[in-house]
Amino acid sequence: MTDASKPPAPRPLRVSADMQSFRCNQKGCCCHTWDIHFLADEALRLASYAPEPYPKKLVHGAPTQEVFIGGERRLLMQLNTVLPKRRCFFLSESEGRCEVHAQIGPEVLPHLCRAFPVVSFDVGEEALEVYHDAVCPEVLNVIADHDGAYDVATLGGSEDADLSDRSSRPLVPRHLSIGDRMLAHEAALAVRDLLVQAANERRVDPMRLLAEFSYSIADVARGEMFTLFDPETDPHRDYGAFEAFFDQCVGSHQARALYSLIRNYQRFVFEEEFPDNWNDLEQHLEFREDWKDRVDPLREDLQTLLYRFMAHRFYSIFWSSRNYDHIAIAYGNLAHTVATAMRFADGFCRWLGRPLQRNMLKVALGASEYFYRGINVPANAMLWFGPPPNEGEPEGAVE
Ligand code: SF4
Repeated sequence: MTDASKPPAPRPLRVSADMQSFRCNQKGCCCHTWDIHFLADEALRLASYAPEPYPKKLVHGAPTQEVFIGGERRLLMQLNTVLPKRRCFFLSESEGRCEVHAQIGPEVLPHLCRAFPVVSFDVGEEALEVYHDAVCPEVLNVIADHDGAYDVATLGGSEDADLSDRSSRPLVPRHLSIGDRMLAHEAALAVRDLLVQAANERRVDPMRLLAEFSYSIADVARGEMFTLFDPETDPHRDYGAFEAFFDQCVGSHQARALYSLIRNYQRFVFEEEFPDNWNDLEQHLEFREDWKDRVDPLREDLQTLLYRFMAHRFYSIFWSSRNYDHIAIAYGNLAHTVATAMRFADGFCRWLGRPLQRNMLKVALGASEYFYRGINVPANAMLWFGPPPNEGEPEGAVE
């Protein structure tokens, strides 16, 4: 069976150079506990591969919703799953693999199954923009396993068959805005290139990079040009307001909410030093004002991971939400994501009774990514929509 929507001549792909080494671990970690909405025709086709009487059971009463994709009205369907873990019917529990993929072939799977963790965007450039979702543990491994710069490569459309297939249905971002200001695609690409370059140059520590990124975006929201700080000519910018905002973000969620999230995210965690018994973690996720004593983001051996994680987010500028016009995901909740990762990391340290290690921070970043997939951070909880730096407490708390 062929995919009729696959373009005959694949377009070049712009992608993180390191992500070309991404390979799925084939453990099915993204095949349960999601509420996955497939295109209805693909969902029905997938269900038809189940033996009788399951095809009917998989679609009976399955929730549907209408959406507009590329200006077209489409029906989405959420297939029924297998309780208690809401597992995809086709995920083999013993093998941890997709049985349709193994026995029939990936080409008959819904595009979403083939594409994840890749999301691609057509922003009107010759090359498609290709991003990788850092919820996926193998994407995090690629970010964490390299120490060098976060380089971007442009691949010929046929150069990487797997990536071309994953990118074969690019999304068209509606538009980007920061505050009331629209950001043309060309301008967005220029902003992101400057930010990735700053993360690669590492001239300031990661926390200051995050602060300066936030202030520079805040300038745009106030109607000014985007300019990135120069640590040599502007070395003394006061970023106390950002530190206060960030501290608020670290403490802004209840331990119970974080615990329930991490229990869901647990299926993405394969690091050996995490024990099987996660039940004791909840009490350790309570916010402690002295979190920096255990989880110092400026610790030398952690900085490379933070620089590269931020470069990964900066690179993914068009990754926005279907529900928002503003740059909600890649940029909008970046400070929140790093802050909540610090909270998870502090919880891990106290739970395990060990100092923070790189693998623990990697898991904390992935868990935080996952957490913010389920939360629509309101615009006024982002630093750049709040008061200008040094003019009072920014609004930051997200319950
Ligand atoms: S989350 Fe990533 S590694 Fe795990 S099954 Fe999905 S694509 Fe593969």
